[in-house]
Amino acid sequence: MRFQESLYPAWGQNFGQTRVLFEHQTDHQHLVIFENDLFGRVMALDGVTQTTSRDEFVYHEMMVHVPLLTHPNPQRILIIGGGDGGILREVCKHKGVTHITQVEIDASVVEMCKTYFPNHSAGSFDDPRLTLVIDDGAAFVRQCKGQFDVIIADSTDPIGPAEVLFETDFYRHCAGLLSSAGILVTQNGVPFLQGQELTNTFQRWKGLFATRWCYLTTVPTYVGGPMAMGFASPSAMTLPDLKTLHARTEQLQGLKYYTPEAHLGAFGLPLYVQKLLVDSGMSPNRNRS
Ligand code: SAM
Repeated sequence: MRFQESLYPAWGQNFGQTRVLFEHQTDHQHLVIFENDLFGRVMALDGVTQTTSRDEFVYHEMMVHVPLLTHPNPQRILIIGGGDGGILREVCKHKGVTHITQVEIDASVVEMCKTYFPNHSAGSFDDPRLTLVIDDGAAFVRQCKGQFDVIIADSTDPIGPAEVLFETDFYRHCAGLLSSAGILVTQNGVPFLQGQELTNTFQRWKGLFATRWCYLTTVPTYVGGPMAMGFASPSAMTLPDLKTLHARTEQLQGLKYYTPEAHLGAFGLPLYVQKLLVDSGMSPNRNRS
């Protein structure tokens, strides 16, 4: 048997399926978890690869440690989506974090990933700092009265239930929930194939965030080249220097991808990505300035 990813009608990856472990149409999306000889266990939602046992560390470490090590003292964290638990596992490694709120729309994803991807969450769903909310992230931020130092939008692509997480209304409410040095990080697709999504995000961020950056990380099973992680703050920011990042990284155990060098290097954008930001109205080379 094979799983053919359906994200791009004209092209896509396919996986050999040695065993289908779980398949179900939840209230929100089609969920399948299967085994593959090269990537271990694979989860797909609505036909799109979400995470695999073998390469999940790349994405989860860079989505978490870049914002949490850029912020001088991250204590209150909001995770939108992230039902597989990988983002949560990495956030829990930060000893200074005091409160974590996670808002995931589909309880089935949490339950099935606890069962079939135990190493993703690695017990972090039991962390006393966590409040897990099963809800639409856009509805949550609309009514939330709290304040967060970092918000991580670990969502599916802007089709189906996650579409609202790429709208101006969601970004505006996130901006209102961030502390002054707060940071929003977003899963923003593979710019070589989903470039308009990145341009759209930067256009919608205009007027909401003083800092609008993007950084790149190559995740093997997010096909089409490096993926973009949006990075925004209500404050004008500069990235910490290498020495500071090394000092802040010392607290973290069990890293497999993140390094301070990779952190700073990820913000160096190739021209075709810079052009997507310019298309959104940003001046050239504003990334990181
Ligand atoms: N790493 C993956 C990627 O880059 O595409 C995302 C992984 S995670 C499984 C995506 C999660 O977003 C899913 O669990 C999905 O249920 C959740 N999600 C989608 N729309 C949502 C919404 N409106 N509110 C909260 N969670 C949502």
